Amino acid sequence: MRNFEHAAVWEADRDHFIHPYADFANFKAEGSQIITEANGVHILDSTGRKYLDGIAGLWCVNVGHGREEIANAVSSQIMKMQYYNPFGHSTNVPAAILARELASLTPGTLNHVFYSTGGSTANDAAIRIVHYYFNQLGKPNKKKIISRIDGYHGATYVAANLTGIHATKIGFDAIGRDLIHHVSAADTYRGGDGRSDEEYCDFLVDEFERRILQLGPDNVAAFIAEPIMGAGGVLVAPQGYHSRMHQICKKYDMLYIADEVVTAFGRLGEWFSSEALFGHVPDILILAKGITSGYIPLGATILSDAVHDVISQPQCVDGVFTMGFTYSGHPVACAAALETIDIMKRENMLDHVRNVGPHLQAYAKKLLRHEIVGDVRGSHLMLGIDLVSNRQNKEGFPASSHAADVVFARCKENGVIIRPIGNRIVVSPPLILSKTDCETIVDVLDDAISAATQTLQ
Ligand code: PLP
Repeated sequence: MRNFEHAAVWEADRDHFIHPYADFANFKAEGSQIITEANGVHILDSTGRKYLDGIAGLWCVNVGHGREEIANAVSSQIMKMQYYNPFGHSTNVPAAILARELASLTPGTLNHVFYSTGGSTANDAAIRIVHYYFNQLGKPNKKKIISRIDGYHGATYVAANLTGIHATKIGFDAIGRDLIHHVSAADTYRGGDGRSDEEYCDFLVDEFERRILQLGPDNVAAFIAEPIMGAGGVLVAPQGYHSRMHQICKKYDMLYIADEVVTAFGRLGEWFSSEALFGHVPDILILAKGITSGYIPLGATILSDAVHDVISQPQCVDGVFTMGFTYSGHPVACAAALETIDIMKRENMLDHVRNVGPHLQAYAKKLLRHEIVGDVRGSHLMLGIDLVSNRQNKEGFPASSHAADVVFARCKENGVIIRPIGNRIVVSPPLILSKTDCETIVDVLDDAISAATQTLQ
């Protein structure tokens, strides 16, 4: 690797790197913070400042930064065989073994893995496969997908349209053909409107069923949902919601796609949360991020036996399944995933999360002492905080006050990284953090919210 001066990197970045979610209003003037080192739960920037990484990179560095074991697995795979194409009937060792490992870890008959390069491509692949599946079944009109407001599913064209976060849509086009429809988020803080959780759940399930009937069950192919919405603000659905939504899917011959890009690989104290925590086995399971702990890009779309049985029939005489990426089942990424899984097993990481996760959730409740905190919620190592200007009507601050950014800036000054999203703050640390690290994150947030209360009110 060549060495560069801080200023040269800063300028190269400012002039040439188009960042995801860049704020072009001030990017040129402010430039970027350059992260140069990372170890355990900490990151270091180019000025030598150290931060507790409260967001695990971006919900992904589950086993922590700087793992030599993963570096070794990756380098030895590169030295042995860094790439050969997976098309047709050739394969590589890590891709085959990882597919078997995923099949054995996942619940039910989720036994068949289609690899891609991240969460967006895994979701795109799922929608393409769903369409192909219904074509194979002789139901070519069954194509519409129902997603949810505030859901996040990625940034490729289809995944961005599955996403239901309004702010991600401004200036971009919707995909054509009336393909994707959104129903309400399961938001027990704002959506409940004084209803009990049971009544709210009834309302959501009923809304979903009415939407299917309105679109025509013969036209609706699938529902996609995160078990707990991540980027939407860590929204936890009322009890029974996911399994009831899945029952509705079955009633109308639709497939349920669980986007577990964030919620899998230990973040909720389970390998996967759909069955373990929410009581149902999806027809299609989407994985990325934690699958390699962010060391190398990888996505996976995992199909049940029933879906696979249909798509694995030739679509015509001499037909082949003409779908795949150059990097489907990349051996280096799959080697990183296998080592990630081994580390999680060796270090009993699920048990650790079951121990520290509830502590983070309980300790964070103290943030409710602030007038501008409307809600503190989550599960295990997904924490969400809603900032409000008025607790009674739950109104947020106007976008121009950048409420969560104000909190973020103060946390950063004090050495902790959290993620601001509008009026919401999310925390999703590496799974290896200690109870003391949990308390540090919350204490720094507590101070930052106090300071923000002065600025914002
Ligand atoms: N699905 C969920 C639930 C996500 O949180 C994300 C990214 O944050 C994605 C999909 C998209 O993944 P990627 O950014 O790897 O394409």
